[in-house]
Formats: sequence, C-alpha cells, structure tokens
Amino acid sequence: MADFKVTELDPNTDFDNLTYWDVVIIGAGPGGLAASLTTAHRGLTTLVVEAKSEPGGQPQFLYADKKIVDIPGFPDGITGHELSERTFRQAVDALVQFRFNEELTEILDTEETGNDERLKKVVTSHGEYLCRKVILACGLLHYPRRLPVLDALNYKKVHYKVPRINDYHDDHVLIVGGGDSALDAAVMALQRNARVDVIVREETPIGKADSVGRIRELGGTIRTGIEVKSADLQEGHIQTCLTDDTQLSSELAIVQIGFLSAKETFERLAIRLNDDGSIAIDPYFETSRPGIFAVGDVHGDIKLVTVAWAEGIQAAIYAFKEITSPYWLNEKRLRDHKLVMIGEKITRAATAG
Ligand SMILES: Cc1cc2nc3c(=O)[nH]c(=O)nc-3n(C[C@H](O)[C@H](O)[C@H](O)COP(=O)(O)OP(=O)(O)OC[C@H]3O[C@@H](n4cnc5c(N)ncnc54)[C@H](O)[C@@H]3O)c2cc1C
Repeated sequence: MADFKVTELDPNTDFDNLTYWDVVIIGAGPGGLAASLTTAHRGLTTLVVEAKSEPGGQPQFLYADKKIVDIPGFPDGITGHELSERTFRQAVDALVQFRFNEELTEILDTEETGNDERLKKVVTSHGEYLCRKVILACGLLHYPRRLPVLDALNYKKVHYKVPRINDYHDDHVLIVGGGDSALDAAVMALQRNARVDVIVREETPIGKADSVGRIRELGGTIRTGIEVKSADLQEGHIQTCLTDDTQLSSELAIVQIGFLSAKETFERLAIRLNDDGSIAIDPYFETSRPGIFAVGDVHGDIKLVTVAWAEGIQAAIYAFKEITSPYWLNEKRLRDHKLVMIGEKITRAATAG
C-alpha cells in the first residue's frame, strides 16, 4: 500500500514568521525540488535555499535548450528549461518557500528545541534558519573549469555553459572537451547548422560513442590528442592555434572540460567526505551528522536527473518519518540488517581473489 496521502499545508501559514522550519533544503536543482515537493506534500513546512537567482540546477543553467531524452514519460524529450520550470511550479503550488541568491555557509547544532527535538541552524550568506532536518542537494559541479588560454581573451563569446541556441546558428563553433557535455554541445550546434571543431586532449573522447558517431555523421570534426596552444581575437573571430600548429577561426567557443569540486563548502559543514570530495552517506541518505541528509550529485556515482529525483524523494520521506516518529531511522537500521549486509559485502570484496 502506498505510504502517501497529500497533506496540504495551510495556505494561511505565516511563513515569514515561523519559529523554525520542519525542513530546510539546500539547492533548487532536480534533487532539491523533488525533495521539497515530497516534504511539503506531507504537510512539513519546507524552505529551499538556492545560491543562484533561479531554480532548476544544472538542467536550467548548463543545458536549458538541450532535449533530455532519458526521462521516463517524455518520449519526445523535454528541454532542461521546461523540466525545471514544471518542477518548480509544482513545488510552488505545494507551498514550498524559496530564498534565491542565498548561499549556504554552515550548519550549526543548537540548544534550542522544537517538538522536543534539538534544532539545527542553517547559516546562509543572507540569513539564519532554525530547522529540524536539513537536506543537502547542492550538486557537485558548481563551477565549470576554465581554460586559461581562452579565458585570457576575456571575450563574451567564450562560453563555459552551452549558450542559447540562437547564439550560434550558422556559426563556426570551437568546442573544447571530450566528455558527454562537450559532445552534447557539439551535436546541438551541428543540428543548428553550425560548423563544429571539437578539440579533445585525450586520444579518444571519453563521452558516449553514440555521440561521437552522431557528430561525424552531422559533418563535425573531432580532433583528438590535441590542445589549444594560443588564442587571439581578430575582428570578432577567435583565432586559435593548436598544439599541432593547425590554425582555426571561430565565432564562438564552448569550453566543457569538467567542474571544480564543491569540496571546500562541504568541508565547512564538518561532515564526513569520501576520498573524491563527495559527501559520504549511509543507506538512508543520512550524512555523518544525524538529521542532515545528502542527495543527488553531491554524493552519487550515477549523475542523472532521475537519480537525483529518486534520492530527493527517499531522503524527504526518511526525514518525514524521523519527524513524525523520532529514532525511526535508528530502529530501522537495527531492524533491517542493511548495515550488516554492507559490512559482509566489504569483507567479501577484500578477501576475494
Ligand atoms: C551538460 C550536462 C548534460 C546533462 N544531461 C543529462 C541528461 O540528458 N539526463 C540526465 O538525467 N542528466 C543529465 N545531466 C546530469 C544532471 O543534470 C545532474 O545529475 C542533476 O542536475 C543533479 O541534480 P542535483 O539536484 O543533485 O544538482 P544540481 O542540478 O547541480 O543542482 C544543485 C543546485 O544547488 C545550488 N547550490 C550549490 N551550492 C549551493 C550553496 N552553497 N547554497 C545554495 N545553493 C547551492 C546550485 O546553484 C544548483 O541550483 C547532465 C549534466 C550536464 C553537466
């Protein structure tokens, strides 16, 4: 039987004067929006703090015009923008409250209590919020890695996210990077009649083989084992010289060479991190600090919208269970032997071979 019945929040709730929030969620990307819907639908007062001026996370900021084709239920695909817009509207309708342009700084344990529970204080760049549970959904890929040789041009047509489609219709586009993001950008540009050169440092692009095939089919050029050696601006064109001395001239450049980790932010939160800087969680998405959950790209190996959604929903339900029945998680941990099974798996792996 479904464990769910929508418990609407009272529309007359004075959200500006709450003594504390049931749940504060950091990040309005797919994970945070899905979590927020889930807690609000269970009657919990829910605040989402988002560093940027708009909701949506990566689909909105990094690939708003790309058709996402792997979301079940959308056989014709859905753009990152539309997906973000729809999910945000659903959260607003559920009376989730948002604070934009606010960045999480730290989370403090306090002596204050609400419903017999010790409250946490979420400190942001603009305010402080007392709450019972926190869900971190702030993604790992916050800052695109820059390419110094193109960055030095300080030119508005050197992009670190995929620009709006009309920006490169019929142009010559230089794309730097060999991962999925770079290859996706190349396919999009080619589909809009751009001429495309993809510059890949490795001998083989690490992105999907399908995309490589598609780029070649659409007439794009992939240059592997090569880098941009120097760059110059001449009459609105970016003149680049590659390490094999090939000269290219393009109207714009899209650089997709990975992202800097959000490790420093996470370190300030005093939670346990994995070796790669992502957040360590237990099978219930709880971090090393009780009452603080983490979902989506902040910890995950599989970085997909649907995975961030599913984790956001699960963590929200665990938070709800803890609020309505304190120590529910600890009892569940003891009951279901999941931790024992994980321990067994580690032992088996360590002794194998
Ligand atoms: C180019 C590209 C193409 C992709 N294509 C697909 C695809 O086709 N299908 C698919 O399923 N997945 C795709 N993905 C992956 C997918 O976008 C991510 O897995 C998903 O967005 C992760 O969601 P999230 O909520 O965990 O994090 P994010 O989407 O990163 O959202 C995190 C949010 O938190 C905010 N934030 C960060 N730090 C703070 C802070 N300190 N305080 C407050 N707010 C903060 C950020 O501004 C952001 O809005 C793609 C990714 C990229 C880069």
